[in-house]
Amino acid sequence: MLNCLEATRLISIRQDRPLTAAEVVRLRFHLLICAGCRRCSQQFSWLDHQAAVYAHRADQGSAGDDLQRTEENHPD
Ligand SMILES: [Zn+2]
Repeated sequence: MLNCLEATRLISIRQDRPLTAAEVVRLRFHLLICAGCRRCSQQFSWLDHQAAVYAHRADQGSAGDDLQRTEENHPD
């Protein structure tokens, strides 16, 4: 059975390449019993989504708009 260190390593690797079938089964079993790694998995998914949104905005030339609006609201 995976420990938490191995599970988080697979969660991180999953962002870069598809896991093997054996890795998927081992990770899913660990996630069933470990709330901490489930939370970590959700956070990695959120970060991956945010990076994709930022990359999409960068392609459209509006990636810095949110930062610019924030600076306008706080001029100091
Ligand atoms: Zn764990």
